[in-house]
Amino acid sequence: MRASRNGGDNPAMLEDSIKAAARALSGAGQVMAFTGAGVSAESGVATFRGAGGLWEGQPVEQVATPEAFRRDPLRVWRFYEARRVQASTVRPNPAHETLARWQRRFPAFCLATQNVDGLHQAAGSREVLELHGGLWRVRCTACDRQREDRTVPLPELPPRCSACGAIERPDIVWFGEVLPTDILSAAAQAAAKAEVFVVVGTSAVVYPAAGLVEIAASAGATIIEVNPAASALAHLADIVLRGPAGELLPRIDATLEVS
Ligand SMILES: [Zn+2]
Repeated sequence: MRASRNGGDNPAMLEDSIKAAARALSGAGQVMAFTGAGVSAESGVATFRGAGGLWEGQPVEQVATPEAFRRDPLRVWRFYEARRVQASTVRPNPAHETLARWQRRFPAFCLATQNVDGLHQAAGSREVLELHGGLWRVRCTACDRQREDRTVPLPELPPRCSACGAIERPDIVWFGEVLPTDILSAAAQAAAKAEVFVVVGTSAVVYPAAGLVEIAASAGATIIEVNPAASALAHLADIVLRGPAGELLPRIDATLEVS
């Protein structure tokens, strides 16, 4: 099967692509989904624009780098506190809910995400591979102890480690930091085994998204891309669906149910 693509404005072609995606998924034993900021944006989470850009009006270098944190931990924490407050007000959308359902449906299902907001877990997904860390975890800068903390707002900024007293940082992968190798390697292993790989809501220009898609494609997976805009990985995709994930994933799911 090769290249079923809707142009974005043709309902009949979109319907064909939805059917093609449902066909690819219907017999699959190993499925992997990889999600990016677009899925969160559909729930109302503010998205960032990458290094060199602004993030909610702040230069990224001043709020999302290890240097920024060393220089002014309070400023960085105020920024993340604002993100935590905002994330605590949003809810999973039908894309998150569909992916949570697919975890129960397929014999083996792996979900990896670039998002840090915890919306996949809120929708019921388990063992989510959070490649960029998580907004609801903090980590000690001295003894590396990690803990979950969903308190909004935090009683003290910056929070301190109860074991050693040092300040804690958000357990987020900042610009200039390496991705957690155990999580990345689990994602790469799942990508290599996937029969169907669904990329959702990411332009895939940021490492490692493109790399995971390449691993899956070269291992023979059917690649399904669900994204409102054209992306850097469209040339690798077998099936491209242009539109909001919160609308398209439930339509694929409904087609799966009757097939
Ligand atoms: Zn500590």
